[in-house]
Amino acid sequence: MTEMKIFIDGKWVSRKSAKISVFDHGVLYGDGVFEGIRAYGGRVFRLNAHLSRLQRSAALTSLVIPLTAAKLEKLIYEGLKRNRLQDAYIRLLVTRGEGDLGLDPRCCPKPNVIIIIDKLALFPEKCYREGLQAVIAQTRRTNPDALDPTIKSMNYLNNILAKIEANRQGVPEAIMLNAKGYVCECTGDNVFYVKDRVVVTPPVSAGILEGITRAAVIEIIRKKTSFAIKESLFTPQELFSADEVFFTGTAAEIIPVTLINKRPIGTGAPGAVTQELVGHFKQLIKSEASSTQPASPQRRGSIGLRLS
Ligand code: PMP
Repeated sequence: MTEMKIFIDGKWVSRKSAKISVFDHGVLYGDGVFEGIRAYGGRVFRLNAHLSRLQRSAALTSLVIPLTAAKLEKLIYEGLKRNRLQDAYIRLLVTRGEGDLGLDPRCCPKPNVIIIIDKLALFPEKCYREGLQAVIAQTRRTNPDALDPTIKSMNYLNNILAKIEANRQGVPEAIMLNAKGYVCECTGDNVFYVKDRVVVTPPVSAGILEGITRAAVIEIIRKKTSFAIKESLFTPQELFSADEVFFTGTAAEIIPVTLINKRPIGTGAPGAVTQELVGHFKQLIKSEASSTQPASPQRRGSIGLRLS
């Protein structure tokens, strides 16, 4: 077996040697941004979208990513080779870097880029066949007035609290509401429901992370199916009376949800619309993995923008 190689501090090192300073503000304050990315058949899925989201998250936190998008892309492909993985989950982090105990980012001159490449099975295979169980968490999603949830930052505490609620209730995932009580998203996935062949998902203004898988699914619905797609606010009641519910995310892909708060959704089995979308999504992955078009981003300069 190949030993895992992790990129940290400008070089590839073994898992054992991949260490971070206790003074890194990523450790002290969760000050940093990240992306969860997938590779299929040696090709990174929607890398440009991930790098753009990373750039946006960094810009909105006044974090300058010290490497260009082109360099990050090169490193990710190099990491796949070094780890001898074709199908992999890639975690790309940019922490604020080493500073002192005060939270002022100005004391951290050198942001730290970390790339971890591994296999990841978020949910057991059985959940894809039979459907996932979830609960509606008491913990609300971060209020967009307080912290912009479209920033994919290393602060996941409210999602973690919701995950703990799910754990306590013995189910794999929790659905989080926004401050107004509308369905927002899961701890690490976006939410969709289907009613009478209309697919509905909360709008970004609900306070969600704008998922790259969510965007791919919306694109599939528009281009490949006769279903309607609607971005609108909805309450948990609409989930309970839906024909189907599914979650989307880079790690989870598309996963059917068949039981929420112990209440069966639709027939209680994965629905036909979800299954059709799963089929199209697999097709999309295959076609993008075999596409001759280079996935390379056009950007050249440093991808961080200093706003302040
Ligand atoms: N919402 C949250 C809170 C997430 O952490 C994620 C996964 N990164 C998603 C949604 C899904 O986003 P994506 O499809 O880009 O992985």
